[in-house]
Amino acid sequence: MIGKLSAWSRTRRKGASTVEFIIILPLFILLCLVIWQLVVAGKAVMDTQAALRDAVRVASVTGDAEKGKAQFKVTFVEDRQYQVDSFEIRIDDDEVKAWAKIRIPLIFMAEKSTFTYRSTAEAPVLNPWKSWAGGPTGPWLTSGGILGPPVRTWILTSRFGPRTDPKYGGRAFHKGIDLAGPLGTPIYAAADGVVVHAGPGTGYGNYIKIDHLNGFQTIYAHMYADQIYVRNGQRVTRGQHIAGIGNAGKSTGPHLHFEVIVGGVKVDPLLYVSRSSVAAR
Ligand SMILES: [Zn+2]
Repeated sequence: MIGKLSAWSRTRRKGASTVEFIIILPLFILLCLVIWQLVVAGKAVMDTQAALRDAVRVASVTGDAEKGKAQFKVTFVEDRQYQVDSFEIRIDDDEVKAWAKIRIPLIFMAEKSTFTYRSTAEAPVLNPWKSWAGGPTGPWLTSGGILGPPVRTWILTSRFGPRTDPKYGGRAFHKGIDLAGPLGTPIYAAADGVVVHAGPGTGYGNYIKIDHLNGFQTIYAHMYADQIYVRNGQRVTRGQHIAGIGNAGKSTGPHLHFEVIVGGVKVDPLLYVSRSSVAAR
């Protein structure tokens, strides 16, 4: 009796698993396709949003639509799964507007079958001269430091201004400040912004340049290539660890050469960073 029962149960189960196989497997495959379609579409939408945001931000900071356009190409990760159908960026009346149309393939349909995703973004153009109240020594710039310190502790070995060139002698104008510290000492972004250069530069060894809002830009120089932790086009936040102090380029010892640019003019960084942590030598 028990033997008969177990034999019956085996055949029944076998039958049941065949039914499961016929019904469940195709359903499972269908579900996988649906999930894959959602993943591809989601990735395309996120890429589009990120690229639009970056493009508008760069155009709004620089006031240059072409730079925004170039940034869109850098941020948008185009691959075989989805392509940019059209992208447009324009500046009208100090307002940046960008439109993107992305083609996303439909996995269920015949090849080349796609649907389009449209998105727009806009932001005001940040004109440094309009919003720059009081000039480089204006009151709001020095109150507590509109820029955070680029390193946590340092020794100020050279100030901004005319000086004797430390390497070649002769008079030279020092366009930044030198903050000495051990090799690899973390360097932090002075404010939120977009990296517009991260790589080699004459005299600088390697340097990072960041575009901030209101026309501010900061430069961090003399790093070694392997101690640069950001790439061109990347968005950074104030206090983000972006590099380590190096001794590359025209440098006589491990230090960070730090520059601040306001409205295209290199100015004394000490007017902008919080001075509380500066140990002047
Ligand atoms: Zn320097």
